[in-house]
Amino acid sequence: MFIEPQSGRNKDTRNSTGWIEVVCGSMFSGKTEELIRRLNRAKIAKLKVEIFKPAIDTRYDEVDVVSHNENAIRSTPIHSSQDMLLLAGNCDVVGVDEAQFFDEGLKEVCVKLANQGIRVIVAGLDMDFAGNPFGPIPDLMAVAEFVTKVHAICVQCGEVASYSFRLAEGDKTVMLGETESYEARCRKCFVEGMKKN
Ligand code: ZN
Repeated sequence: MFIEPQSGRNKDTRNSTGWIEVVCGSMFSGKTEELIRRLNRAKIAKLKVEIFKPAIDTRYDEVDVVSHNENAIRSTPIHSSQDMLLLAGNCDVVGVDEAQFFDEGLKEVCVKLANQGIRVIVAGLDMDFAGNPFGPIPDLMAVAEFVTKVHAICVQCGEVASYSFRLAEGDKTVMLGETESYEARCRKCFVEGMKKN
């Protein structure tokens, strides 16, 4: 489990350095739960926390980051990663959910915020339905201080799953996560499924 490198940090003892954390994995791997866990701990430490998500993700609620277990936390939907520079100014910790749907400028923005002394925690899908690196996530993994891959369980065979296998028709990459459209699969079951399609 991820332990904050400076868990006792607060406004009085605030260290001048920021950093970037990436939490990534397939659908149903608990990315958002892990993001919320880290953000709640920052809140307990009385740090100023702001959470952003792409305005495109309107699955459940306009202003809450909602994970599949309904563990919710307030968030701000934004249309461009650049908006974070205006809105995150005096934060100690910035969370980004569903980061794979942001524009390619997200890495640049996260680096700027971290350089300002902000702790930036980014959660997102590392691979799309075809198993390819997804949007700005691979770049963020490269520049992050800490990368955590979380895993789901393959619904076909029960092994550890890293892939989001798409059950629905169509090939639009931007399809939002719902239980009926995707399932978590291990490499073997993912490859078998892709051959059949
Ligand atoms: Zn499997």
